[in-house]
Formats: sequence, C-alpha cells, structure tokens
Amino acid sequence: MKILVINAGSSSLKYQLFNMDNTSVMAGGIIERIGESQGCLTHNIFIQGFEKKIVREQEIKNHKLGMPLAVNLIIDSKTGVIDDIKQIDAIGHRVVQGGETFGSAVLIDDKVKQAIQDNIPLAPLHNPANLVGIQVAEGLFPNIPNIAVFDTEFHQTMQPKAFLYALPYEYYTKFKVRRYGFHGTSHKYVSKKAATIMGKDINKINLITIHLGNGCSICAIEKGECKDTSMGMTPLAGVMMGTRSGDIDPAIIGYLLEQTGMTIQELDIVLNKKSGLKGICGLNDMRDIHEASAKGETKALLAVEMFCFQIKKYIGAYAAVLGHVDALVFTAGMGENDPIIRAKICEDLSILGIQIDPEKNREKSSGPFYLHSRDSRMQVWVIPTNEELQIAREVVQVLK
Ligand code: ADP
Repeated sequence: MKILVINAGSSSLKYQLFNMDNTSVMAGGIIERIGESQGCLTHNIFIQGFEKKIVREQEIKNHKLGMPLAVNLIIDSKTGVIDDIKQIDAIGHRVVQGGETFGSAVLIDDKVKQAIQDNIPLAPLHNPANLVGIQVAEGLFPNIPNIAVFDTEFHQTMQPKAFLYALPYEYYTKFKVRRYGFHGTSHKYVSKKAATIMGKDINKINLITIHLGNGCSICAIEKGECKDTSMGMTPLAGVMMGTRSGDIDPAIIGYLLEQTGMTIQELDIVLNKKSGLKGICGLNDMRDIHEASAKGETKALLAVEMFCFQIKKYIGAYAAVLGHVDALVFTAGMGENDPIIRAKICEDLSILGIQIDPEKNREKSSGPFYLHSRDSRMQVWVIPTNEELQIAREVVQVLK
C-alpha cells in the first residue's frame, strides 16, 4: 500500500511517499519559500538503500503550482519511484487543529473540510495552509481518498479537569476556550514505540513523553491515553521554547500593554517570536546556546538553566498525575540529540527513581536507545519521532 503524507505550511509543503508494505519511505521532500521570487524544491529518492537528492530552485507562485513539481519527480521515468499516481492508495494530511470535533483520523469530505475551516480561529496560521494542501491534493489526485490526521486528536482523551481553564464556563461553551494540546502525532508515535521496545503492552504502562524541538511539549500518558499535556489552547503554552514564552502570569499581558504601549498584535509577536530561549539570551538554537555557554556567556547559561528547570517541574507534576511512571521518553531535535539538556533535566530526580548513566546519555544513535542506569527505578529513553510515519499508519487504519 502506498501512502502520500502531506504537511502544508503557509509558505512550505513537506511530503513523503511511504510503502506501507514494509513501512519504508520511497521518496519525499520539501517545497520552500512558496510565493517568493526564488522558491526551492528539495526532493529525495530512496530506492533499495540508494539515496538521491534533487534540488530545483525556481519561482513557485503557490502550493497548487508547487505540488505538481514534486509529483512529476515521483512518477518521472528517470527519477520516479512509481509509474502512475493511481498507484497511490491514499493521501494523509497533517492538520494542526481538529478542535473537539476530531478524536481520530478521518476520511475528508465536505463536512470535514467545513469543520477544519470552522476551527481556523483556533489555529489561524496553520489550518488555512492545511486546507490549501487538501484542496491541491484533491485537484491533483482525483478519486484517491484524502485523510486528515490532527495534531490535537491524541489529546482528546483528557478529562475536563485537565482541559478546562478556570475562566467563566461559558468561554468554553461559546468560544471553545480550553486546552487542546499539540504534537499529538509525535507523542502517540514515541509512546507506542517505547512500549514496543520495552517489551510492554502500551495499555499497561504509564509514560511521560518530552518533545523538545523548536516547539516543546510534554505529555502524561496513562495506558496509551493522554491524561494531560503542557501546550494549551494554542502551542504558546507550557514550557519555554525556542522563541515562545510558554506559560506566564496572564496579568503580565495587560500590564505590558499599559507599560509599553504595544498593540495586542505586537505583544503576540513578542510572546511567539521574541521570547523563550531567544528572549533570555538572544539565541533560539540550542547548539548556538551551548556554544555561547561554553564561552561563559551568562545569559546563555541562564537560558539553559531555566529551560531544564521548567521541564523538570512538569516531570514532577506529571509523575503526581500518573501516580506511577514506567518511563520518560525524550524526542525531537533536542530530546534526540542533546545529552547536556537530557542530563540537566534528569539531574537530582532520584526522588522519582530516575538515575541516568552519563555514558549511555552521550550515545549518538539514529535509532532508539535508553540512558537509565542499572539501579534506576524509572526507565529513560531516547526515541526518534516520526510524525509522517504515524500519519501514514493512521491513514491505513482509516482505509481498513
Ligand atoms: P522542529 O520543531 O522545527 O522540527 P527540531 O525538532 O529540529 O525542530 O528541533 C530544533 C532544536 O533541536 C534546536 O534547538 C536545535 O538546536 C536542536 N537540535 C537539533 N539537532 C541537534 C543536535 N544534533 N544537537 C543538539 N541539538 C540539536
């Protein structure tokens, strides 16, 4: 079975073609700088251990003109991995905000598109781009089913005590104000993978999954179901991130509007793009922050301390929420690659039975590995995330 996964952003579109008979990627790539004078398509082909990269730089006016460039390479007689688009069984779309409408992946029809449209106010940057991706695919691949997989769906198992904010109740019923959570596809993928690798039944274990990319989120997972997660109504909430503030005292908003004279839109940009690690030390990429820290730059050192402290607090809170935790799972850019951050988060957590082995923590691997020491009561794993594969798997489920 061949599944094409599409992740459309406002000026980019990522795609991967999976052969689900052996869960391998046949081809994939990214179309970037859509709408700018110089766009770029980077296409990778994977055939039997052989990998080839094709880069095309040209103006790509819109998604509708960009996607066919990739499709042509997928079916081209020289570069192609299939002969005809009809060989694609279905297309999976990453959709960021499914609201309360969607607790699982769904076959896209007019009603589903309308629901994604209705949720635009909750994800004004993402849902419109996701809808464009769906429209482009419908035009390019007539008669091939399109399936939406939502970032929020995994978190729909949260109970009201976890997802409600302590605001007037009608803000929830009238304006849909509640915690939705994001990165759900990643938390779901790594939690399932962790259970498999640990040789346990996912329905019998509790996990805390820690996704540390440019966006960061943490999830308390009980027997395979999300019980609580750090991101909120939007992906701005929770721990501090590359450029996002994470949780702040809500009264700061009004105070800053008064003190600075900023508009609410300007303050929104500060909170999303100029805060977090960047707000503290001027840098948002953790590799650069480590470099600055090594030179003794105090604000870089402070940013790392704050970041790890905030994550540590969530681990404590989620241990209390779950009662018993079988494993911590680190994933995404920093979670998978940064032993300094992992060590700092896990230090002094022996109260929770967490002991990591410094040598194992330094391991460099493209696959999963564990870093707990022999006498650690809780296991600690690094599991590379694969949101595209998770989407493809859910598409197969829907087709079944
Ligand atoms: P995104 O959320 O955009 O997918 P990533 O998952 O790539 O982002 O994570 C980006 C973060 O991960 C950055 O802070 C970056 O410094 C960090 N990161 C990525 N690769 C490495 C690495 N090899 N070593 C240390 N940090 C890394």
